[in-house]
Amino acid sequence: MEKGYPPQDPTPPYPGPPMNYPGTYPPPGTYPPPGTYPPPGTYPPPGTYPPPGTYPPPGTYPQPGFSPSPSPPVYQGAFAQVPTAPVTTVTHVLVTPALHDLPGQTVCPQCQQTVITKTEHTPGLLTWGLCAGLTIFGFWLCCFIPFCLDSCKDVEHRCPSCHRIIYVYKRM
Ligand SMILES: [Zn+2]
Repeated sequence: MEKGYPPQDPTPPYPGPPMNYPGTYPPPGTYPPPGTYPPPGTYPPPGTYPPPGTYPPPGTYPQPGFSPSPSPPVYQGAFAQVPTAPVTTVTHVLVTPALHDLPGQTVCPQCQQTVITKTEHTPGLLTWGLCAGLTIFGFWLCCFIPFCLDSCKDVEHRCPSCHRIIYVYKRM
């Protein structure tokens, strides 16, 4: 007596196509359609920025006639966002380079007084250079002439109060 179970294949083959079948690739429709990208409307609209109306109105500025503080009014405009760096004011009083041959007005760095300098002509590099040049070219009898001409000497500017040298104008 035979069994009622007819012999069957243990595992039927996959009903689907083989692995190399072109149909296994995802159909073109499975790619995300262009519509899945966020539409332009999802970006924050320009209206989310603070409207210009949030700035304090011009009426909040202190009145010029009733401002108790002597400081000028600080405007709350667009420049209020920028941190203001401390402005370093140069307090060093530089000797004016305008001091040449003639006495000039300047501030003495020693006594801090505004004075008119006293000039004194002293032999400088140009004086000795001219003297050497005259000697080399045979005019050694005239080599003392540069020491007699103030236009060939350096000029020392001294303070009339403390008698210190403020500036030396060198011709070379
Ligand atoms: Zn001085």
